[in-house]
Amino acid sequence: MLPVSVHARRRLKVKINQLIPVRKRIFIGLLSASILCAGLILAGIWHLALNPHRTFWDQVLLLGLAGILLGGLVVAAFGIGGMVVTILYARDITVLHGPMHVAINIFFPVALALGRVFNIDQDRIKSSFIEVNNYLVRSKALKLFPEQVLLLAPHCLQKSNCPHKITTDVDNCQRCGGCVVCDLLDLRDRYGIKVGMATGGTLARKYVREYHPRAIVAIACERDLTSGIQDSDSIPVLGVTNERPFGPCFNTCIRVSVVEEAVRFFLKDQTGWPERPG
Ligand code: SF4
Repeated sequence: MLPVSVHARRRLKVKINQLIPVRKRIFIGLLSASILCAGLILAGIWHLALNPHRTFWDQVLLLGLAGILLGGLVVAAFGIGGMVVTILYARDITVLHGPMHVAINIFFPVALALGRVFNIDQDRIKSSFIEVNNYLVRSKALKLFPEQVLLLAPHCLQKSNCPHKITTDVDNCQRCGGCVVCDLLDLRDRYGIKVGMATGGTLARKYVREYHPRAIVAIACERDLTSGIQDSDSIPVLGVTNERPFGPCFNTCIRVSVVEEAVRFFLKDQTGWPERPG
């Protein structure tokens, strides 16, 4: 028979699994570990600052540095707390948006570096980040008009031998059914949203400047989605990871039903017969 402590640990593990699923836990766990590392660095700086052999100005400098680090740590800790509470209770906590932003932007690169140390696949960490982001976005009560929603898709969804240049004008697609681009155009027409086919971050940013969306549904690989979500500032982004059966950036595909569900999440009128602002 197994010792009670092992049973208790197993029960705790099952409980945690139920509360925060594994894919979200990778990101939250690594983010928390990053903050712990920063805490250790803070303790080291504090120790150096209090060393009596330091000059007065050395101590002032080190204590100033420790103060800045401590401030960042406290804010990031609130941010992680906010993410966990949002995931647990599916409620948007507006007051913690700032701390969550700090936690993600400052400590995410550290979390990725820690992942490398522990040999965790980088795409798994990024995928976990996208899942947490999507969960946070879905906790908001957003009901928008179709023209306020932008669907950003990568041009690698286009069949590689298609001669039509859809990045300059998506309507150059002849809707032959050879790839999912025609399905995305059907979605655009059905719901009245904006669509942009991007070759990279520069073109994606251009679409954002041009359309001024209030929300974005972005299709991309883990790497591009992660940087896109971080770049998007206050615009909520629902990320949909593309499938790459032929390797990266070549004849990629997507499940259109997943994209449609993400589009519908943002819409005030989800029937596909859009209501226009007065
Ligand atoms: S649906 Fe046909 S025409 Fe349109 S981008 Fe794909 S292959 Fe080209």
